[in-house]
Amino acid sequence: MRKALTLVMITMLVLVLAACGSNNGGTNNGNSGGNAAAEGSTNGNASGDKGKVGVSMPTKSSERWVADGDNMKKEFEALGYSVDLQYAEDVIENQVAQIENMITKGVKVLVIASIDGESLTDVLQKAADQDIKVIAYDRLIKNSEHVSYYATFDNFKVGVLQASYLEGKLGLKDGKGPFNIELFAGSPDDNNAYFFFDGAMSVLQPYIDSGKLVVKSKQTSMEQVATLRWDGATAQSRMDNLLSANYSDDSVHAVLSPYDGISIGIISSLKGVGYGSGDKPMPVISGQDAELASIKSIIAGEQTSTVFKDTRELAKVAVKMAEAVIEGKEAEVNDTKTYDNGVKVVPSFLLEPVSVDQTNYKQVLVDSGYYTEDELK
Ligand code: BGC
Repeated sequence: MRKALTLVMITMLVLVLAACGSNNGGTNNGNSGGNAAAEGSTNGNASGDKGKVGVSMPTKSSERWVADGDNMKKEFEALGYSVDLQYAEDVIENQVAQIENMITKGVKVLVIASIDGESLTDVLQKAADQDIKVIAYDRLIKNSEHVSYYATFDNFKVGVLQASYLEGKLGLKDGKGPFNIELFAGSPDDNNAYFFFDGAMSVLQPYIDSGKLVVKSKQTSMEQVATLRWDGATAQSRMDNLLSANYSDDSVHAVLSPYDGISIGIISSLKGVGYGSGDKPMPVISGQDAELASIKSIIAGEQTSTVFKDTRELAKVAVKMAEAVIEGKEAEVNDTKTYDNGVKVVPSFLLEPVSVDQTNYKQVLVDSGYYTEDELK
């Protein structure tokens, strides 16, 4: 017995030493903190000689997609690929044409964040005909069997975080209320919008049912509260209408907003009728993406919270998936049942979203190097 134990201990020691040895090797290669860019360049792969990959992004009008594109380009280049990165400015036909063009150029793989998740069936068939595999990035691509993997965040949890923040700030768990709330959701052609809204309503619905939350407009269904193309101006005008129709002699205390750009529109509308000054405090307002303007708004006490999704991590996951399919290997996933695209359940990797407000933005965003202090001034 004792002999067996000693043997186990010696084996463990050897394993630990071996692991230390390989870590040191990494450091000596100039790999600072597991940075893929550093790894790639020390391997001498940064020449683009592994071929071209196509990255199709929805729009530059939201910072997050710009960061996503830049991060993926950096990661792919570090591995030795050249990158065709295109933005479609939220026009579906542009996105389809850009992807067709990438197929013509003979890209090795396509990474796509769709504008409309249901409009890519034909172009994905064209990709499949050329044996080009597809990774769905952040947004699920529906109605196609030709989606190999899906890299995203836990989208239901995003909604839960948004609503839990409102719940906590209003003190609903402590029995406070009733409060007036209005609801906004994202674009009805984006599968994520339903996950965010369902996640949020899983927290809010019981309070609406018990009367602790009152939606004076009575607009509570996805069809009523959706915001086409996540457009801030569309949200602003809907908020204008909600305020004039329902709040001329009452106040709104909370607004569920699914995305920072929408929150900015809602806040403009609120400010327009005097919220945030005198005896009309700003309602509690959620958001998503930790965009710079919204972090500044949070610091200024206007928007209340946002949900941070680290685009650097998402880019890494997607690039790993892409490289796996290029090499004919299996990619790492951590969810194989949530994302049914209508034809198949797409194997997915879900990252964790993080709730951010005045109390933790420094720790989450500045300490991690996502923003510098200067950028937030
Ligand atoms: C993304 C969100 C983003 C929204 C608007 C969604 O698909 O998951 O991060 O806020 O699109 O761009």
